[in-house]
Amino acid sequence: MRKKIVAANWKMNLTLAQGEQLVNDILAAGIKLPEGQEVVIAPPFPYLLKVKQLIRNYPGIYLAAQNCASEKSGAYTGEVSAEMLRSVDVDYVILGHSERREYFSETNAQLAKKIDQALANGLKPIFCCGEPLEVRKAETQNAYVAKQLEESLYHLDAAALKNIVIAYEPIWAIGTGLTASAAQAQDMHAFIRSSIADKYGREAALGLSILYGGSAKPSNARELFACADVDGGLIGGASLVAADFTAIAQSF
Ligand code: PEP
Repeated sequence: MRKKIVAANWKMNLTLAQGEQLVNDILAAGIKLPEGQEVVIAPPFPYLLKVKQLIRNYPGIYLAAQNCASEKSGAYTGEVSAEMLRSVDVDYVILGHSERREYFSETNAQLAKKIDQALANGLKPIFCCGEPLEVRKAETQNAYVAKQLEESLYHLDAAALKNIVIAYEPIWAIGTGLTASAAQAQDMHAFIRSSIADKYGREAALGLSILYGGSAKPSNARELFACADVDGGLIGGASLVAADFTAIAQSF
């Protein structure tokens, strides 16, 4: 069975003290994680070690970075390599978030290199894909997402694909309060899974966790997570409020 995952993307928010408080509040809430379900927390880089320390004794709770470099090492001032992240016990790395694509001009080709760096260093990529509003209005979202998958993931072999998690995040729903309807999310997740089946076979597709991201909150998580091909969520704004995040994590 594929994993159910709820991941918190803190983005560029919170001081260290606020982040510690948030993690402690989530842990104190005593989230029940049945076999096969995970919680992932993605704080900013400077807090990774501290958050790892806090979650270390909580099975089912994992650490993610929000990005990694596309190069292995060297003269790339300000960058953080996948190897560095693994050396501080990071488990997952979010790659291809739409904010990175838009504000930092990350391309599908560059993301393919980041994916390779992550996998080579034992990190599991949470690969984000999703269309802007004009693409959704033109009803060409499937082709748009298919191209993202093809150009960043399809150079991988089936064994490597097992370590990938996909997050479908329609850009028009991120931080806007607009959520994809459960039907819109299910349609796209089913499309992604069938594209993966075409490329890698049915077994690989059935084993792949596909998360939904875009204004998910306690009031809509249950309906979204009940969709057959939605295996959890990548949560932005609501992950900064312990009660909201823990409610979402228990919405399966
Ligand atoms: C995100 O940034 O990954 C995200 C889904 O944000 P929000 O939940 O705030 O829309």
